[in-house]
Amino acid sequence: MTASSSQNQSTRKDIRTLDRNQLVEAMEALGQPAFRAKQIESWIWDRGTASFEHMTNLGAALQKQLTEQFELSCVAIGETQVSRDGTVKIGFELAPGQTVEGVLIPTSKRMTACISSQVGCSLSCAFCATGRLKLLKNLTAGEIVDQVRHIAGLAREDHGKGLSNIVYMGMGEPLLNYRNVMDSIDRITGTPGLGMSPSRITVSTAGIAKMIRRMGDDQTRVNLALSLHAATDEKRNEIMAINETNDLASLRDAIQHFYTKTGTRPTFEYVLLRDFNDRMEDAQALARFARCVPCKINLIEYNPIDDGKYQRSHRDNTEDFQHFLEDEFNMIVNVRRSRGEDIDAACGQLAGKS
Ligand code: SF4
Repeated sequence: MTASSSQNQSTRKDIRTLDRNQLVEAMEALGQPAFRAKQIESWIWDRGTASFEHMTNLGAALQKQLTEQFELSCVAIGETQVSRDGTVKIGFELAPGQTVEGVLIPTSKRMTACISSQVGCSLSCAFCATGRLKLLKNLTAGEIVDQVRHIAGLAREDHGKGLSNIVYMGMGEPLLNYRNVMDSIDRITGTPGLGMSPSRITVSTAGIAKMIRRMGDDQTRVNLALSLHAATDEKRNEIMAINETNDLASLRDAIQHFYTKTGTRPTFEYVLLRDFNDRMEDAQALARFARCVPCKINLIEYNPIDDGKYQRSHRDNTEDFQHFLEDEFNMIVNVRRSRGEDIDAACGQLAGKS
């Protein structure tokens, strides 16, 4: 490769970062009619085409121009592992040394894709394997959609069904990659795109108050889950460093703002850690916090990571905790059992080990 071609490659813009207007402008600059933008969008977002050469209705001259001026790189599929319980973990390679993981979780009622939004994570939650990896990169909207497209294909091949749910709960903090995450949601729910219902999508955050408020202001139509995991600042600071700058009072305000603006009930995620946050006084604190808005509570079975200091709560404790919230506080509570634990695909275990 010559120096100039190498420079050309590094300065080529990723065509998947252009919106419709920018694509129309790009076509005008190439002396092409505006309808070409629509054709290209359809190839990229409806069909997931990974090469300009495959865009057969554009003609060879335009294909060549696009190849010279733009990048179109879809994520490569790496190792796939299947758990005893049917959960599938897929490695997605973005660049050498940059892998994220996505998970297909099939149950009798749902086909859920859990997807990643960042390579690594900057938040270092104490119970999470991803938090031990340095943040390397924000995924582009295209890279996020690639995960959904591939996992949806697996669901169809292996189970004969499309995805019922998508959760942004894989590697990374989605609200610290806000623009690309929202653009990916537009592509997953839009046309051209995958045409799924936004009500089937959940964005899960460790608690960035400012961005929760922004989701409300933007009147997003997707669901919001807040990974609460402790309902006093003292305990939450211990396991989630983000709480030091986004404390419970600021999160309460932000969640109320989100609910007022969108009318969507948030979910509070609460991973039960033995003898840390699984006592009745913890349940009381959780109920006090959660009463700030109509909500649902998901109690999550913890999946210990290699040398982590936390352990899973006993099943009896989990049941007592659930019944206490239901009976004493009339709350809607679901228990999320661990899935894919044997392949490190469960909640908090994704770390790009594959
Ligand atoms: S739980 Fe989420 S926000 Fe916290 S370290 Fe893990 S990936 Fe990052």
